[in-house]
Amino acid sequence: MRSDPRDYQLATPSTLHGVVSLLANEPGQWLPIAGGTDLMVLYAAGKLPARRLVSIWNLPELRDIDVSGEEIRIGSACTYSDLRHHQIVAREFPILASAAAWTGGIANQNRGTLGGNIVNASPAADSLPALLVYDATLVLISARGEREVPYTGFHTGYKKHVLATDELIRSIRLSRKYSTYFSYARKVGARNAQAISKVCIAALGKIEHGVIADARIALGSVAPVPLRLVATEHLLFGQKTFPELADRARQSVAKQISPIDDIRSTEPYRTAVAANLVAEFVEQLCFGKQDNLCL
Ligand SMILES: Cc1cc2nc3c(=O)[nH]c(=O)nc-3n(C[C@H](O)[C@H](O)[C@H](O)COP(=O)(O)OP(=O)(O)OC[C@H]3O[C@@H](n4cnc5c(N)ncnc54)[C@H](O)[C@@H]3O)c2cc1C
Repeated sequence: MRSDPRDYQLATPSTLHGVVSLLANEPGQWLPIAGGTDLMVLYAAGKLPARRLVSIWNLPELRDIDVSGEEIRIGSACTYSDLRHHQIVAREFPILASAAAWTGGIANQNRGTLGGNIVNASPAADSLPALLVYDATLVLISARGEREVPYTGFHTGYKKHVLATDELIRSIRLSRKYSTYFSYARKVGARNAQAISKVCIAALGKIEHGVIADARIALGSVAPVPLRLVATEHLLFGQKTFPELADRARQSVAKQISPIDDIRSTEPYRTAVAANLVAEFVEQLCFGKQDNLCL
């Protein structure tokens, strides 16, 4: 352990109001900590610059999953285990449920939260492509009130986002309108468990009268931020299903992504795998059994 706990202060207000008041009264002085699975790694390495932490773990206001007719609202401090074991999430949002199951091991899933994954903003984060294809809206809260931000506009660059220092993510809203779509998700890592993704994909599609009526594709670990493949989606829209379509989709991928070489993988490997995953999605959408494929 390269940090000394005596150098740190932890506040634990018992209400959401208490947390946002603290953030408002001393702007920029307090860093929220939820499950701590990202922050405690920094702490252990002696790389956590914030000295004052305010806990949002187990605040009831951030821990519920509210289901209404048209949408679900996931409290930002819901853990991966909460997501995996929620019936509506498992049935209607299988890509998010799979991402939760792929994130770390069970101990990590019991502590790590969806809000923490969003704000930590790793391009390799597993749940973020799912939020892109499900068209998530983030509800942000501060002492000034609430505001909503489409998730597509949240990340402004590598590890950068639009959250102000006095704001928290309160909840994540997901429309239930994609529940009948074909779902496809894959995580490619060094092994099946406890591996950060080399590439991950989330995709949804709908065929009507032999034509692709909608396709939504997002990739992780291929750019500074999680990325929607808008050009590929446009290419697929309205197309009759035919075998060469998967190849055309495959070829469209490289121009849209900017993967890097790092300790986990290389740029050529990531480019080839991303293209293959997109092609597999299109093949399965057009010619598969239409059973959701979240491997
Ligand atoms: C062993 C291990 C394996 C892992 N494997 C994976 C993996 O396979 N895939 C993957 O994607 N990630 C993985 N992670 C990363 C981590 O578990 C996730 O990013 C997790 O979702 C972080 O959530 P947390 O609640 O622990 O965040 P914390 O560490 O508590 O916080 C992370 C950041 O988010 C901010 N924050 C948290 N909640 C909020 C909120 N509601 N509003 C505003 N800011 C907030 C904090 O201030 C901090 O900046 C792994 C981590 C470990 C230690």
